[in-house]
Amino acid sequence: MGRHTGPVCRLCRREGTKLFLKGSRCDTPKCAVDRREGVPGMHQFRRGKASEYAIRLREKQKVKRFYGLFERQFRKYYDEASRRSGNTGDALMSLLERRLDNVVTRLGMALSRPQSRQLITHGHILVNGRKLDIPSYLVRPGDQISVKNREHSRKMATDSVAVGGPAVPEWLDRTSVDPPEGRVARLPAASDVGLPVQPQLIIELLSR
Ligand code: SF4
Repeated sequence: MGRHTGPVCRLCRREGTKLFLKGSRCDTPKCAVDRREGVPGMHQFRRGKASEYAIRLREKQKVKRFYGLFERQFRKYYDEASRRSGNTGDALMSLLERRLDNVVTRLGMALSRPQSRQLITHGHILVNGRKLDIPSYLVRPGDQISVKNREHSRKMATDSVAVGGPAVPEWLDRTSVDPPEGRVARLPAASDVGLPVQPQLIIELLSR
C-alpha cells in the first residue's frame, strides 16, 4: 500500500490546520502550523478568494491526508458510502473513522496514524485476541483491540498511552491502560471525527 513519504508538516500547512501526523511534536510550539504562516511554496501569501471548487477540493484533501489515504483508496470509501442508506457524507466519515489504524491512534496506543500503521503492519496489534496486520480493517462494535504479549510491543503502546494524547472518543472504551486495551462500544457517527470537516462538501465534489 502506498504512503506519503515527503515532509508531512507541509501537508498541514497546505490545509491550514493541524492534521496530527507527527505524534507528540504536534502539541508543542514546534508545530509548523503554529510557527509559520501561509501555504508552503514560493507563492505562499498570494491567495485570492477561493472558488467553490477549491473549497470542496481542500476539504477532501484535508480528510485524505488526515487518514493517510491516496485518491484511489479514498474513492473506494466514497463508493462504499454512497451504496449505504442515509447521508452519504456521514457514512463516509464513519467508514474512515472505523479503520484499525485510526482506532489504535484514538485509543492512544500510537502517537500518530503513521506510527499506528507501522505497529499494525509489524504485527503488534491484536483484534479479538488474534494478530491483525491490515491497517484498513474496519472495526465493528464489540471488537477488542489489544497489544501482542511481548515486552517490546507492550512497551511501545504503553509509552504512547503515557504521553497522554487527546481523550478517547465516546464510541471507544479504553478497558486497560497497562497493557493498553480497548473495545469498540458502538459505530462512530460523523460528529465523532477528530477533525473539523464538512463531509457534505466532499460529497458535492465527488458526485459531480
Ligand atoms: Fe502537522 Fe504535527 Fe507538523 Fe504540526 S507538528 S504541522 S500538526 S504534522
